[in-house]
Amino acid sequence: MIKKQMLWSLSFFLAMLAIVVLLQGQRDLAEKVHAQHQAQLQAEITAVMNEYVPAVNTGVIKPGLACPPLQSSPIPRPQDLARQLPKYHPKEIWKKADATNYGPRLTKDIQGRPVNNALLIVLHETVGTIDSALSLFQAYNPRDADQVSYHTMIGLDGTVVYVVPPEARAYGAGNSEFNGESVLSSTKVPSSVNNFAYHISLETPADGMNERDYHSGYTDAQYRSLAWLVARTRVQPDRIVSHKDVDRDGARSDPRSFDQAKFFDLLDNYDVLLTTTCTLTALAN
Ligand SMILES: [Zn+2]
Repeated sequence: MIKKQMLWSLSFFLAMLAIVVLLQGQRDLAEKVHAQHQAQLQAEITAVMNEYVPAVNTGVIKPGLACPPLQSSPIPRPQDLARQLPKYHPKEIWKKADATNYGPRLTKDIQGRPVNNALLIVLHETVGTIDSALSLFQAYNPRDADQVSYHTMIGLDGTVVYVVPPEARAYGAGNSEFNGESVLSSTKVPSSVNNFAYHISLETPADGMNERDYHSGYTDAQYRSLAWLVARTRVQPDRIVSHKDVDRDGARSDPRSFDQAKFFDLLDNYDVLLTTTCTLTALAN
């Protein structure tokens, strides 16, 4: 009798165990399917973002995106994201600078201290034509003091001209800092924002090829291409500055006659891109 009872208890226990294992298995499977679905959705979203506004690879430099610690926005559906992103895509060309006019982005300053500033957008104007600026950047300049470059220039017709790869350090600013951030990379030139800057220069209109304080301003195409290009870097508005803002010598006034309100209005159209990037970043961590 006791033996029979024990057998019953054992069978009951085994049956319960089987149910628990089965339920657990189903939950694991459901989680696996959910994770696969989530990963596929994220890949589709990234593909849409890269089609409209491909991310710029700044190498060792972190993107200047300050995401909230917990991102509660849901991932949009790929078709919704595609509808919300501007359809603008400027003409793009490469006119690479001579290798003497740029260098690697450093992970340590000249004293060996680690540096890890987030990316900073620095805006300029060419004052001369794009071609005259290019001839300067494409010249062999062995002396440190002569070396100069921007990452990108934007022509009056909105064409985006890439000059220095984004993962490299362009020499767009001399003695400069942003909110106390500055990196000393050589004993021959003053500390500057160059190590963590992405330098973009707007081609100056014909009536601005002089020393005056203002000119007729930039074209609509230039503003639209600039917003698209800045969106590519995923940098937040609080890390977008002018050369004038970061220049310690007070000698720079570029870009003159820049319509900030117009630019930031256009950049607002890419808000969904920044939110989505934040959500994907939060999910990946
Ligand atoms: Zn400048």
